[in-house]
Amino acid sequence: MEPPTEPAAGSRKRRRRGGGKNRRKPSSSSQQAAPPEAASPPPSSSPAKRGRKAGADQVAAKPKRGNTMSLLEKMHARLSGGHFRMLNEKLYTCSGQDAFDYFKDDPNLFDVYHTGYQEQMSHWPEQPVNVIISWLKSHNASWTVADFGCGNATVDKNVKNKVFSIDLVSDDPSVIACDMAHTPLEPSSVDVAIFCLSLMGTNYPNYLEEANRVLKPSGWLVIAEVRSRLDPNTGGADPDKFSKAIIQLGFSLVSKDAKNKMFILFYFKKKEKSKVVKNIDWPQLKPCLYKRR
Ligand code: SAH
Repeated sequence: MEPPTEPAAGSRKRRRRGGGKNRRKPSSSSQQAAPPEAASPPPSSSPAKRGRKAGADQVAAKPKRGNTMSLLEKMHARLSGGHFRMLNEKLYTCSGQDAFDYFKDDPNLFDVYHTGYQEQMSHWPEQPVNVIISWLKSHNASWTVADFGCGNATVDKNVKNKVFSIDLVSDDPSVIACDMAHTPLEPSSVDVAIFCLSLMGTNYPNYLEEANRVLKPSGWLVIAEVRSRLDPNTGGADPDKFSKAIIQLGFSLVSKDAKNKMFILFYFKKKEKSKVVKNIDWPQLKPCLYKRR
């Protein structure tokens, strides 16, 4: 599968890390401005240079200024895209705990990541989160939901259900900021656990174990994953091996929806009396690296 496309600068409001009790005052060293490369324009575009050139070719100089600005904007977008791809790769190649430490040390990283993420998503013909929202709406509004790796908490904003939104950082006090391998949710307390493109860490099985812990018996486990990560033809994992591992965790596979071009959806149900198999053979999920556009 061709990886997603590059972001259109997002319009999200600024987020800080650490919702609710986990929020911390950022230290001065943790403040991050725009990427350093974007801080100053290249010498040839400085106003001083343009001023010196103004004279005989003053008329020509005006459109040049306009072109220069748009070039700077393009450069900035490119650098932001690069920063997003770097963070994306980081999230896919470290553990959840390392990701949590990394993001909490610099609250702005979450904004950089999600601006880039939203831009990538804007090129997908269908958003997996919308499919999950429709599924939830067509079921039971009294179900309690845990949205693991909620991002902008889109699920919570669009359904009537009680939703525990969980992510590494947030300035939204309703979002629980933590490594989702260890949430503060009570055991057997939720009816639905969602992972929408969020099985990113190298220890992703721990996230599913945590979902198993907090799900009630017969609760739903809904997973949307990037298609290429589960496509053996492109170096991805065998989707049957992935399902088998989750079945061994104590679930039944109810249905699989592979009709979308960019992602694959799994609907599992926790068994009434589930028993976890020891030494589950979890397949490795390769990182989803986004292409520079
Ligand atoms: N589910 C959202 C966002 C997907 S992006 C949506 O579909 O719109 C993946 C999200 O998972 C990111 O917000 C990232 O911060 C979060 N995430 C990745 N690893 C995490 C971890 N260990 N703990 C909590 N959140 C994590």
